[in-house]
Amino acid sequence: MRQSLVAGNWKLNGSLSSISELVSGIREQLSSVKNAELAVCPPYIYLSHVQTLLDGSGISLGAQDCSDQENGAYTGEVAAAMVKEFACKYVIIGHSERRHIYGDTNEKVATKFAHVVKNRLTPILCVGETLQEREDGHTEVVISKQINAVLDLFGIEAFKNAVIAYEPVWAIGTGKVASPTQAQEVHEEIRLTLDAQNKDIAANMRILYGGSMKPENAKELLQQPDIDGGLIGGAALKAEDFIGIALAAN
Ligand code: PEP
Repeated sequence: MRQSLVAGNWKLNGSLSSISELVSGIREQLSSVKNAELAVCPPYIYLSHVQTLLDGSGISLGAQDCSDQENGAYTGEVAAAMVKEFACKYVIIGHSERRHIYGDTNEKVATKFAHVVKNRLTPILCVGETLQEREDGHTEVVISKQINAVLDLFGIEAFKNAVIAYEPVWAIGTGKVASPTQAQEVHEEIRLTLDAQNKDIAANMRILYGGSMKPENAKELLQQPDIDGGLIGGAALKAEDFIGIALAAN
């Protein structure tokens, strides 16, 4: 039985005061969420602050990325081992904004994935196609390349405690959401790719959907057999919406 995970990716948003307000809003409504696991991923600089705010809440903490290097002369980078020191459980890897704005290649994402696993953190590996790739009928190929980049280098065992997020790039922050059928098709395909290598790992893998998920569309998406939660951007910045999605995952 896979426990649903609803993870909020706060991206480059928030301040000490707005984050305090957001976490306290989430905590106020938390008792209604019975079954789903919740996680929040603030900007690195706020990890310590949020770690304190989450104390005793049962909400998990995550980082939005990490370096593909362990340590050394890499100005501006943050290593997986550093993130680990702030009680993080999750690290988002390969988000489309990292891939498309900051040039993270499949190979770089795979290296980051390995650092996350080595530090006993759980990677949330984001995969997804652009609108052009979907229209050209390349969705499956693009996603298998993104997954195979990790599989080829580190093998299926690296996925043992991982989470995958299917995030069609055309649905992120656009208000366009994949239909439950479109999303389910890709989620099923991802599970089959893993199943070909290891049935247990595939069956236990939590595959999240991300892309304009909101309380209004969450239920239908989360009812699909291979959708095990959500990676939430915009709607994670409002306590009511974030909790609304978590309730749909209950
Ligand atoms: C995301 O960036 O991971 C995301 C899903 O964003 P949004 O929910 O705003 O589309």
